[in-house]
Amino acid sequence: MINVTVWNENYHETHNEHVRSIFPRGIHGCIAEILAEEPDTFNVRTATLGDPDQGLSDEVLNNTDVLIWWGHLLHEHVSNEIVRKIRHRVYREGMGFVALHSAHMSKPFRSIVGTDGSLLWGDNQLEIVWNVLPAHPIAEGIPQYFMLESEEMYGEPFNIPQPDELVFISWFKHGNVFRSGCCYYRGVGKVFYFQPGHETERSYYDPNVRRIIRNAARWAAPHKFMPGLPAETDYVRPIV
Ligand code: ZN
Repeated sequence: MINVTVWNENYHETHNEHVRSIFPRGIHGCIAEILAEEPDTFNVRTATLGDPDQGLSDEVLNNTDVLIWWGHLLHEHVSNEIVRKIRHRVYREGMGFVALHSAHMSKPFRSIVGTDGSLLWGDNQLEIVWNVLPAHPIAEGIPQYFMLESEEMYGEPFNIPQPDELVFISWFKHGNVFRSGCCYYRGVGKVFYFQPGHETERSYYDPNVRRIIRNAARWAAPHKFMPGLPAETDYVRPIV
C-alpha cells in the first residue's frame, strides 16, 4: 500500500460559496476520493494548513510515501521549517511530491526543483491536454489528447528547470501552450507537476485528470529498499 497525504491550504472552499459548491468536502476531499477509487493501492489521509503543525507533523510526514499539494493564496503561510522537512524527505528518503495547479508557486515545489515557478496566466478557456510521452507510467490509459471545457490558462514561459520527463503539453484556445505534466528526479525522490485544477473549474471530476493523479501517486511512490544518502548532500540549492 502507498501512503498518500493530500495537503490543501483550504482557503477558497472556506471563503467562497461557489468553490464550496464544486468541492463540498474541500479540494483535498475531492483529491482523496480520486485516490480512494483504488482502495487496494492507496491509504489516503488529508491535511490542511489550519490543522495542528499545518497538517504535517513529523509523524505524518514520516509516514507519507507521496505528498500531494494544492495551494494558491497562502503559500507564504507555510512554515520554512516544514518546507525543509518536505525537501529532506524527498531528497534523502524518497518521498514522492505531486504539485497540483497553483502549487507551481508553492514553497515546497520551488524549493525542491530549484526555480521560482513563475509563469504566464490568463482567462479560463478550453484546454487540450496532449499526451506526449505515452509510454510513461503517468500516461497509462490516457488517450493521445483530451479536452477540458474550461480551465485557467497557464502559459509559457514557465520558469522551471527542464523537466527530466515531459509527459503532457497543453494547448489553450487563445493560442498559448504550456508544459502541463512535468517529472523531476531529485535526490532519491520523484516529483510531478500537473497543471489542471483551478478552484472554480471541475477538472478534478474529469476521468482522465483523475487517472493521471492516481498514476502520478503510484509513480512517485518510493522504492521500499531505498538506501539513505549522505546527510549533508544537497542536490539543488535550496530557495528557503
Ligand atoms: Zn487557478
